[in-house]
Amino acid sequence: MLFRLDGKVALVTGASGGLGQGMALGLAEAGANIIAVASSNCDETVRLVREAGGRIEQLSADLSDADKLESAVADALSIYGRIDVLVNNAGMIRRAPAALHARKDWYDVIDLNLNAAFFLCQLVGSHMLERGSGKIINIASMLSYQGGVNVPGYTASKHGIAGITKALANEWASRGIQVNAIAPGYMTTNNTAPIAADADRYKSITERIPAGRWGLPEDMKGPAVFLASAASDYMNGHVLCVDGGWMAR
Ligand code: NAD
Repeated sequence: MLFRLDGKVALVTGASGGLGQGMALGLAEAGANIIAVASSNCDETVRLVREAGGRIEQLSADLSDADKLESAVADALSIYGRIDVLVNNAGMIRRAPAALHARKDWYDVIDLNLNAAFFLCQLVGSHMLERGSGKIINIASMLSYQGGVNVPGYTASKHGIAGITKALANEWASRGIQVNAIAPGYMTTNNTAPIAADADRYKSITERIPAGRWGLPEDMKGPAVFLASAASDYMNGHVLCVDGGWMAR
């Protein structure tokens, strides 16, 4: 029962596919009602959750536009009347060497991966603070720890995600809100498709993963349910690696 989410409402950003879809499905299977938010449609996620017997609604929103976040959260709150769990998952990556990294790429990545995540923490967090309970799960990365190559904006954004996770946990842990993060390793999604398409790179990455395989969206289900449930009530400001052992190597 510690892991059940019956009657809880979980807002998952970037839930049209990939890791967001995996987490939305996992949270729904544990009993949560889902609000799937993305700039592209979440029809497939809606179908999968409903086929599994869950409740889900979707909201279309470009989260890069900071001015639209307040109305997006108001719309989300009007669906089930509350938000118990916020999963800040929407993200993008732009690849180019640091010296050539276009400013637009830098700003686009920071706007979505870090700024939108922080502003959503503020907006949904205010509502959680009023009620004295809530769970926030920010999606970090191995590049919350490492530098990466050709992705300086992404690395900065994911270091920032680890930072705000700890900063908010310090302020909100005593007020009933657990703020934590999940740092996925190499997972098979659209985000990593260009790397996976490079056979040599794919092989060398796979060889470095102790588990011997890339992760899948369903590998995010258990960790997301854990951090959304009462099972993690004494966890605050933690960044949980879900990486097949990558960071242990
Ligand atoms: P993905 O590209 O498959 O999905 C990204 C999601 O974000 C989609 O639902 C998309 O619609 C949404 N999105 C993109 N721009 C948006 C915007 N402006 N407004 C609203 N929604 C928007 O990517 P993924 O691999 O599932 O990545 C999900 C998260 O996990 C990201 O934060 C990513 O950085 C992180 N991550 C992924 C990996 C990996 O290996 N795939 C590893 C570490 C971290």
